[in-house]
Amino acid sequence: MIIIDGSEGEGGGQVVRTACALSLVTGEPFRIANVRGGRDRPGLMRQHVTAIEAACAIGTATCEGLSVGSSEIAFRPGRIVPGEYQFAVGTAGSTALVLQTVLMPLLRADGPSRLVLEGGTHNPQAPPFEFLARAFLPILNHMGPKVCLRLVRHGFYPRGGGRIEVDITPAPLEPIACRERGAPAGCSARVLLAGLPLSIGERMMTAARKGLVDWPAPAFAIDELPADLGPGIVLLLERAFDHVTEVMSGFGRMGERAEAVAGTAARRIAGYAASGAFAGPYLADQLLLPMALAGGGSFTTVTPSKHSRTAASIIERFLGRRWSFTEDGEAGHRAELV
Ligand code: ATP
Repeated sequence: MIIIDGSEGEGGGQVVRTACALSLVTGEPFRIANVRGGRDRPGLMRQHVTAIEAACAIGTATCEGLSVGSSEIAFRPGRIVPGEYQFAVGTAGSTALVLQTVLMPLLRADGPSRLVLEGGTHNPQAPPFEFLARAFLPILNHMGPKVCLRLVRHGFYPRGGGRIEVDITPAPLEPIACRERGAPAGCSARVLLAGLPLSIGERMMTAARKGLVDWPAPAFAIDELPADLGPGIVLLLERAFDHVTEVMSGFGRMGERAEAVAGTAARRIAGYAASGAFAGPYLADQLLLPMALAGGGSFTTVTPSKHSRTAASIIERFLGRRWSFTEDGEAGHRAELV
């Protein structure tokens, strides 16, 4: 059994999700003490419980200590069973983070799967739907499998109520090298707004345009969604290149000015565009697991985050393969499975 201290490194929910995925794939049980020990409110939250329940369901696994607030869990994997599954995160917990837990195991299954995930589709501190659809999944699909994602209903934090559907056709993951991102292939800046005054969206958009002066005017748009989906507002900034698309987001929050949210997101996408790297910080930590399961892979990235280093350390515990992060001239850093 692999023993993990959940307060190490980033010390958050990603440790739990990565361990569940790797345990199902390798058949190796694990125990985590100090679950989310690096957080102000440690222990499992509702969304982590749902993610582990999903892992148990698709992998005929058992988990001791599985309840909200729990700080110690012991997970024993079983056989991965493909099929149709529906998982609902009770609060506006992120559907993307549930998917992050079960996707790699289902790619190892001996048949296709269809998932219906209900909860948040646009949550702060989690991949928004557009990031999964346009940044992460195209690279994963390039490695062999076919994963299709549909947004059926938006779910904003804290209200939730969103729904995504995922069709998964497994295939062996092939190693890929992602060094060059290729020539620029477009950009878009969209505000999604529901149940809030349009003027807030306009302020966000104006601030985004100030931060992205080289983006053409038609790239900027506001999508007003039905009011009953709200309240919610997010700025989605997308920068496409021939071989990769990055999506940075800024979520409107009570008490934070729309201009500040947009300014930060604009600085992030501009920083990424100027960096020359293939992957931004979030894409980087999410590519480590599929590439490790492919048995090889490399990519250039901006400075590796604590999330990336923590995911790499959990991967090493289960697979005995190490990710090396080295400086790589103009491209920033190079991540390589050694
Ligand atoms: P905790 O509450 O313990 O922080 P968590 O389960 O919400 O835990 P983290 O451990 O912080 O999550 O992991 C968050 C994951 O979401 C990471 O894989 C990170 O790359 C991803 N993520 C966060 N924000 C974004 C974003 N704006 N775009 C894309 N991915 C994101």
